[in-house]
Amino acid sequence: MTLFDSPAFEGHEGVHSFFDEKTGLKTIIAVHSTARGPAAGGCRMWPYANAAAALDDALRLSRAMSYKNAMADLELGGGKAVIIGDSRSMKTPALFEAFGRAVDALGGRYWTAEDVGVSPADLASARKATRYVAGLEGHPAASGDPSPVTAEGVFRGVRLAVRRALKRDLDGVTVAIQGVGHVGAYLAEKLHAAGARLILTDVNEEALAEVAARTKAQTVAPGAIFDVEADVFAPCALGGAINETTLPRLRAKVVAGGANNQLADPAIGRALFEQGVLYAPDYVINGGGIINVAGEIRALERGEAFDPTWVDAKLVRLTQTLEEVFDRAVTEGRPSHEVANDMAKARIAQAAAEKLAA
Ligand code: NAD
Repeated sequence: MTLFDSPAFEGHEGVHSFFDEKTGLKTIIAVHSTARGPAAGGCRMWPYANAAAALDDALRLSRAMSYKNAMADLELGGGKAVIIGDSRSMKTPALFEAFGRAVDALGGRYWTAEDVGVSPADLASARKATRYVAGLEGHPAASGDPSPVTAEGVFRGVRLAVRRALKRDLDGVTVAIQGVGHVGAYLAEKLHAAGARLILTDVNEEALAEVAARTKAQTVAPGAIFDVEADVFAPCALGGAINETTLPRLRAKVVAGGANNQLADPAIGRALFEQGVLYAPDYVINGGGIINVAGEIRALERGEAFDPTWVDAKLVRLTQTLEEVFDRAVTEGRPSHEVANDMAKARIAQAAAEKLAA
């Protein structure tokens, strides 16, 4: 299969591969769209089995960033970089500086940031060769850890979904959270403060016990979280939480959490809808993190300090967008993830048309 026939290609503006002989860097930077602004999305370092697997991941993730950035109402397009290699053994400052040169070669069409396998220290090395890097530490424009902002957006989204699906507030509602890492732990604290009853799980037993003690939560084994009696299921671990095996076990009337790629495939989203479950599309409800990063890009572009009030205004807008998704899903009688995809595509198409007309 050639690049242009790949199902994940879907109208990418550009796909760029770079090799640096001295450091062994092999990177693919996929730019899905710059219609709304420069493409922005993190850099993932992963030991892909081959270049085709790396390309597929880059394409899939960069298109997802276009949709996420559009739904977060950011003046950013979507892109993603992948570095082929094991982040535990192959990382060097020189490799990330070479990656910075690759980013710089795109002349500002792509802004990079952290993703799996890449740390702020790696980004500092990349920054030596390009200014198109967000997620740095120790400067006035720095946005810091995005997780609390992601969790705040998810919290507001859960509250909205509960009001709509259950016609009540969070006080006394039972929420099952899968994964109490960065996002899940902050979310648990916010829900506990709002009076929700929590059932938590995590494969990390130490972290689980610690968060449960702080939030007076019940805990269950990882495999049991799908069977608990809960009003809301909040996936905050890895992707694919809702799949053919777990869906029949879910008792919740709302699925709303921070994890990316919660639906194993789009058909599962339709099955959720047909089962009468209100699903908050993952890339809409978890947009707080990219909003935070966008705040840093904005500050860097303007030569200003990071402005948390701008971030909060975008978070307010994000919840309004989620409400619009829910409204349209009702009036059109369609699953929320299909509505969100169409809205994202329309926002990108409109920006592209305006750009052409200008
Ligand atoms: P994290 O690694 O800090 O937390 C994930 C937690 O899930 C860990 O505690 C891990 O032990 C647990 N876990 C893994 N597999 C599990 C399983 N099978 N059952 C139960 N627990 C399991 O990551 P994070 O930053 O909190 O991100 C969580 C999710 O949210 C990811 O899908 C991430 O892509 C997404 N996300 C995060 C942000 C952010 O700002 N951090 C933004 C947007 C989306």
